[in-house]
Amino acid sequence: MKSLDHFTVDYLLSHTQEEGDCLIWTGSAQHGKYPQVRIGDSRTGAAIAVRRIIYEKVHGELMPGKQVGTKCKTLLCVHPDCLVQRTKSQAHKGQKLRPDHIMRIIAGKRAKAKLNMETVREIRASDELCTALDARHGLSDGYASRIRTNRVWVDHSSPFAGLGARP
Ligand SMILES: [Zn+2]
Repeated sequence: MKSLDHFTVDYLLSHTQEEGDCLIWTGSAQHGKYPQVRIGDSRTGAAIAVRRIIYEKVHGELMPGKQVGTKCKTLLCVHPDCLVQRTKSQAHKGQKLRPDHIMRIIAGKRAKAKLNMETVREIRASDELCTALDARHGLSDGYASRIRTNRVWVDHSSPFAGLGARP
C-alpha cells in the first residue's frame, strides 16, 4: 500500500532513464504514453499522473482545468524542466487557444458532464483525494477540486430549506 507521500520527486526520478536532456519514465504508463503510479492497492488503487505529481512538487499547484504536458514532446519524459501546464485541448492539438475558445469548451464539457447533484454531494462529502475522485468519476483533471470549492455545480438548495418547490 502506497500513499501519495510515498511518491517523492527523488523516488519518481529514480524510475527513469536519461535520454539526451530528458528523463524517460520506466514505470507503468496509461496507453503506453502517460506515466502513472497507483496509490493504495497496486492493482486497483487510483492512478495518478506522474507528470502531475512532479510538476506540482517542483513548480507548484496546477491551475484548475489544466494538465501537465511536455514541451520536449519526448514519449514518457518526466523531466521537471520539460513539464508544462496546458489545457486538455491544447495538449490534443498542440496549439494555443484563445480564452473565449477555452470558455466555450468548458461550457460544452459541463453540458455533457455525467454528473448529478447527488454525485456532486458525494464528492463534497468524500475525504478522498481530488485526483482519485477525478479518476473514479471520469472527470477532467482538477474537476473534483472545482466542485469542492464551489466553482462549479453550485448547490442552491440548502439542507434546511428542503420543503420548497424545486424546478
Ligand atoms: Zn523531456
